[in-house]
Amino acid sequence: MSNSKIWLSSPHMGGNEQKFVKEAFDSNWVAPLGRNVNGLEADLVAYLGTDRHQVAALSSGTAALHLGLILLGVQAGDEVICQSMTFSASANPIAYLGATPVFVDSESSTWNMCPVALEEAIVDRMAKGKKPKAIVAVHLYGMPFQVEAVAAVAARYAIPILEDSAEALGSCYKNQKCGTFGTIGVFSFNGNKIITTSGGGALVLGDKELKNKAIFLSTQARDNAPHYQHSEIGYNYRMSNICAGIGRGQMEVLDAHVALRRAMHAFYARFFAGIKGVTVLTEPDDRYFSNHWLTAITIDPAVTNGKTREGLRIAFDRANIESRPLWKPMHLQPVFKSYPYYGGSVSETIFEQGLCLPSGSNLTDSDRERILRVLEGFFSEE
Ligand SMILES: *Cc1c(COP(=O)(O)O)cnc(C)c1O
Repeated sequence: MSNSKIWLSSPHMGGNEQKFVKEAFDSNWVAPLGRNVNGLEADLVAYLGTDRHQVAALSSGTAALHLGLILLGVQAGDEVICQSMTFSASANPIAYLGATPVFVDSESSTWNMCPVALEEAIVDRMAKGKKPKAIVAVHLYGMPFQVEAVAAVAARYAIPILEDSAEALGSCYKNQKCGTFGTIGVFSFNGNKIITTSGGGALVLGDKELKNKAIFLSTQARDNAPHYQHSEIGYNYRMSNICAGIGRGQMEVLDAHVALRRAMHAFYARFFAGIKGVTVLTEPDDRYFSNHWLTAITIDPAVTNGKTREGLRIAFDRANIESRPLWKPMHLQPVFKSYPYYGGSVSETIFEQGLCLPSGSNLTDSDRERILRVLEGFFSEE
């Protein structure tokens, strides 16, 4: 059996990507606009299955979050609430704008934003004199956050949600696709996501006017004049027509990839069903449908006789298999530690005990055998 590296999540091409890229070359649309860009946007709108949403394809998920905050009116000096347990790209754009991130803890059922801590944060920031301008909520590892509870708090205080759906393309809550719940939604097509354009992202917007504004800002904010005239600060954030070609091919296999990632989750759930002290992040009930972008577990050493997530990570590493600790909460990061934080130690504990397991849609039976051998060896050790 080969000992080649098993990755956490690697690109998985469907077959038609090169056809769309070739079309771009053949027509010489090697630029950040063209048929593939428009086509990918149309594919995404169709996939989301709503008639009120518009999609703008951009150069990255981070760019989408940055423009999303700008479209929500966030400015220097404003406060923006952000789920603490997430990838740094959810929070960095708040700092780009000179705004202040206010971090909020997770709840333990989805590992995402705790609605109780969220409300506590809003009430306290308002008492201190500033109403938060936006809420960045994240569907971590593809698991939908508590959509109704979080949306109810946001609505009570009339604060828009920027829905970071970078990891959750294909996930649903009550049969509605993630990315469509926020005032604005965000996807990422980075190399490790469920589908990739090599690098790319998208904004999901409520109407055509907002989409036009997003495209305007992402293409250097040129006024309508024959010369280059600017009345606003612009950005170079539009998606390349080459990258969009890869995306069009990937859209054809998105649902197949979701099914394969969910099968990886089922594979792990079967193994861990017999192991005390290990919890697999799983949908709390049947309203939730996760794409299971990554299968993540927590290992409680108090119950596993001292076995830890770090022990398992090292055992995988020795077998040339990549696994990775969960996202370290932002309020514990050196760069963000001076900002306000609301909640308890849920995200901190999940981080300390948590590990992401190889979850790619391109893993083979022989990869699964190697993974299983490490798991069996690790958990049978005295
Ligand atoms: C990947 C990711 C992003 C950023 O997307 P890029 O396309 O890599 O810029 C943002 N938020 C979360 C939660 C992510 O996982």
